Amino acid sequence: MNDKLLVLGTMAYDAIESPFGKTGKILGGCATYIGLAASQFKIQCGLVSVIGDDFKTAHTNLLSSKGLDLSGVVTIPGEKTFFWSGKYHNDLNTRTTIDTQLNVLTKFDPKVPEKFKDASIVLLGNLDPNIQAAVLDQMSAPKLVVMDTMNFWIESYRDKLDELIGKVDVISINDEEARQLTEKHSLVEAAKVIQDMGPKYVIIKKGEHGALLFHENKIFCAPGLPLEEVFDPTGAGDSFIGGFIAYLSQRGKVSFEDMKTAVIIGSALASFTVQEFGTKALEKMSFKELSERIQTFKRLTEFEIELT
Ligand code: AMP
Repeated sequence: MNDKLLVLGTMAYDAIESPFGKTGKILGGCATYIGLAASQFKIQCGLVSVIGDDFKTAHTNLLSSKGLDLSGVVTIPGEKTFFWSGKYHNDLNTRTTIDTQLNVLTKFDPKVPEKFKDASIVLLGNLDPNIQAAVLDQMSAPKLVVMDTMNFWIESYRDKLDELIGKVDVISINDEEARQLTEKHSLVEAAKVIQDMGPKYVIIKKGEHGALLFHENKIFCAPGLPLEEVFDPTGAGDSFIGGFIAYLSQRGKVSFEDMKTAVIIGSALASFTVQEFGTKALEKMSFKELSERIQTFKRLTEFEIELT
C-alpha cells in the first residue's frame, strides 16, 4: 500500500549564477524541488513550509496543480520569503553562497496538518535542525525518517544537528558536507562515522559523479548520467531525495534493495533538474521521459564479464 509522505523544507526565491548565465529572482527552495520531483509518483504528499506575502500565487498554483497538499504552508504577512543566491564555478560541482536571507524562516513555527501527522514517511528537508526536530516531534509514528542538511547548518547549529541525526533512519548529504561533518576525507570512513551517529542508511551525493548508499557493511553506487549540457545544478540534491522518497512511498517498502532502485530514480530526476535553470525542467517533465531516462541509467552500468 502507498505510504503518506510529509515533506518539510524551504519555499524560496533564488538568484543563480553559473558559467552559462545569471537569473533574476526565480522559484526555488528545497521543499519546492522535492515536491516537484515527488509529484511524478502517485502518492499523497504534503508540504510543511513558510512563505512571505511576496510569494507569487502563480507559484503556489503550480505546486497545487501537481497534486501537492499545501495545507501545511503558512504565509507570514508583512514578511519576505526566504532568499538564497549562489554562484557556481567552472566545474559546476562547487558553488559559493553569495547571500542567505532567512526572512520568514526566523519566525517559522511549523505545524503539521492533522491529516499528515500519521504519515509513515517523513522527509526533513534542508533547514534549521530546530525546525526539523519540531516537525519530527509532531509525527505520530513514522516508519521512515529521512533528513538532509547543508554546510550552513553544519557550521552554526552543530549540537542540535547531531541530536537530530541520532533520531533519523536515513541521511542524505553531499560529499563535502560529509567530510565537514566527520572530519574524514574518505567517504567510506565518513559514512561509517555518520552511521555510528544514528542513521542506518547514509546517502552521500557526489554531484555529477553520482551517489553512494551505505547500509551496514553494504555499499551501492549509482552513476551520474554523463550529460552534454548542464546549466544549473541548483536543486539537484533536493530533486534526488524527492524522487528517492516518493518512489519508496509509492512502493510502501523501505529495504536496502528498494532503496537501491530509489537511488537510481532520484539520480534520474536530478539529471533533469540540472539541464535548465531553476525548477523549469522539473515543471515540464513527464513520467514517460523519466522512465526512458531510468532505462538509460540501466544501460549505462550494465555489462557482462567472463573471466577465463
Ligand atoms: P540543492 O542545490 O539541492 O542543495 O538545493 C538548493 C536549494 O536550497 C535552493 O533552491 C535554495 O533556496 C535552498 N537553500 C539554500 N540555502 C539554504 C539553507 N541554508 N536552508 C535551506 N534551504 C536552503
